[in-house]
Amino acid sequence: MFECIFCKIVRGELPKYKIYEDDNALAFLDIHPVSPGHTLVIPKEHAGNIFEISPEHWGFVQEAVRKVAIALENTMEANGVNLMMNNREHAGQVVDHAHVHVIPRFKGDNLKLWPHKDYEDQVAEKIATKVRSQFE
Ligand code: 5GP
Ligand code: ZN
Repeated sequence: MFECIFCKIVRGELPKYKIYEDDNALAFLDIHPVSPGHTLVIPKEHAGNIFEISPEHWGFVQEAVRKVAIALENTMEANGVNLMMNNREHAGQVVDHAHVHVIPRFKGDNLKLWPHKDYEDQVAEKIATKVRSQFE
């Protein structure tokens, strides 16, 4: 039995504010929200991150994410949502049970999630060629 805190939340051993549940996915409010309604969507079956989750269970999570995003827009008067997933420590993952953040956004909230940069000459082409080779 997994000791991770999100597995405990799935089993009802820790409290949660449940938003959505089906046979394979669970959604509940993040305890430290970026904005009101910030929700975490997780697979019920433990998987550590995007690299470990099966395609089938990732599909279950994504469909739950879609439903939760719609529900948040409809009920929180949000003007949009951000979907966010941290995978591994250096990407900011703290809880090692795969989870997608669904973050309601509000006009004028001034949250700036990503600093953008520019590519040096030919770097974009080199990167695209290298990564694309995985699919060839
Ligand atoms: P990460 O940085 O791993 O992507 O995000 C983990 C998230 O889980 C954080 O936003 C944090 O606030 C949330 N969190 C951590 N522990 C608990 C908990 O016990 N209950 C709930 N509902 N959220 C938690
Ligand atoms: Zn777990």
